[in-house]
Amino acid sequence: MRFSGLRVLKEGLTGNKGWQAHWRDATPKDAYDVVIIGGGGHGLSTAYYLAKEHGITNVAVLEKGYLGGGNVGRNTTIVRANYFLPGNSEFYSHSLKLWEGLEEDLNYNVMHSQRGQIGLFHSDAQRDAAIRRGNAIRNQGDDAELLSVADLKRMLPYLDYDQARFPIYGGLLQRRAGTARHDAVAWGYARGASERGVDLIQNCEVTGIDIEGGVVKGVETTRGAIKAKKVAIIVAGRSSQVAQMAGMRLPIESHVLQAFVTEGLKPCIDHVVSFGMGHFYISQSDKGGLVFGGDLDFYASYAARGNLPMVEHVMEAGMTLMPAIGKAKVLRSWGGIMDMTPDGSPIIDKTGVEGLYLDAGWCYGGFKAVPGSGFSMAHLVATDRHHDPAARFRLDRFRTGRGLMDEEGTGMQHNLH
Ligand SMILES: Cc1cc2nc3c(=O)[nH]c(=O)nc-3n(C[C@H](O)[C@H](O)[C@H](O)COP(=O)(O)OP(=O)(O)OC[C@H]3O[C@@H](n4cnc5c(N)ncnc54)[C@H](O)[C@@H]3O)c2cc1C
Repeated sequence: MRFSGLRVLKEGLTGNKGWQAHWRDATPKDAYDVVIIGGGGHGLSTAYYLAKEHGITNVAVLEKGYLGGGNVGRNTTIVRANYFLPGNSEFYSHSLKLWEGLEEDLNYNVMHSQRGQIGLFHSDAQRDAAIRRGNAIRNQGDDAELLSVADLKRMLPYLDYDQARFPIYGGLLQRRAGTARHDAVAWGYARGASERGVDLIQNCEVTGIDIEGGVVKGVETTRGAIKAKKVAIIVAGRSSQVAQMAGMRLPIESHVLQAFVTEGLKPCIDHVVSFGMGHFYISQSDKGGLVFGGDLDFYASYAARGNLPMVEHVMEAGMTLMPAIGKAKVLRSWGGIMDMTPDGSPIIDKTGVEGLYLDAGWCYGGFKAVPGSGFSMAHLVATDRHHDPAARFRLDRFRTGRGLMDEEGTGMQHNLH
């Protein structure tokens, strides 16, 4: 079933009777070439690119809940490629290029909106760091522009420029950055994978990983045992728990990140804006709600909800930057479980068990990585070779200390990245 303007018109005129389910509700088979544990953005995109790029279609995605019910449907949807360090910058650059062709590729409206992201700076030192980052981004081949206060006042008239504590000195803009509709990304990849023959199996929790003589043989699930030649763990916040089923202890802590949405307002914020002096960022959804968030709650947890002190902290940061926000009513808030690594950068690698692969550690930045991660992970699973843009996302960097990518410069503390 292809989507097009003509199709929408035809269905509208004929009672919308011709639409089909977006994916098959598959029953698990006894055995697959590849089993992917986790039906989030990364699991689904890996399945899609395995089928599309490598012709591997005897694949099952096992999801313990429903597709899109994890972080892929709980995030604030910022998509950008403005990373500083080698390793990260080429990966996110590749991912953004995939985003730019994604709707055509999937024949699905993921509402990708390149509205621009602006990171504000508030001191001379932060300006130097922004210029350095901007140069690194441009060297990578992506776009970055330095904005003066006059530019900002024209583009973001609603900010408080005159506050004494955190005066705004300027901003770094990436015009190609923006947002997308989170669950549509999951649905688009699910549909694309299912059309190519991948089995998407919901309400199927993996409870064990079968290993014999150091080689993976399959998985145990709440819907029975399934054999597999290769198994990929792609479960975001649950990475440590699932890896433990294979006897692995990962360098990952799970932390909660909260987000907030206000009542719908008329269009007032045209960009994604990040506060440089507090952890606060904001954009406006297509329905009009202001979508914003801040820091992690400062304790490890598997609860998909946060605590009030962080709510207060985020609201204070929002009021400092943009006092008018105080008039908006918050309608909803929620939390997601973040798989935080010690250096804040991800892992796409083989494990010590033959045939067992790991894609994890996306921290709070994994939505923008969905296309790139799926592409690189599919390449690794299909060929047993690392895909160039993700070649530095090695698991053993945490054992050897070589090749760490500490983008934030905060050191080896999970909750600070
Ligand atoms: C509040 C918030 C804001 C965020 N904002 C941004 C942002 O603006 N930009 C950005 O780039 N990133 C952002 N992120 C991060 C991003 O959402 C995540 O990094 C990314 O979605 C994680 O990958 P995923 O989509 O595969 O995860 P998920 O959607 O969580 O997928 C993992 C899946 O694995 C399943 N699973 C777990 N255990 C098992 C099991 N035993 N058996 C079977 N299935 C299992 C889960 O049910 C889940 O569906 C944010 C996250 C949160 C919570």
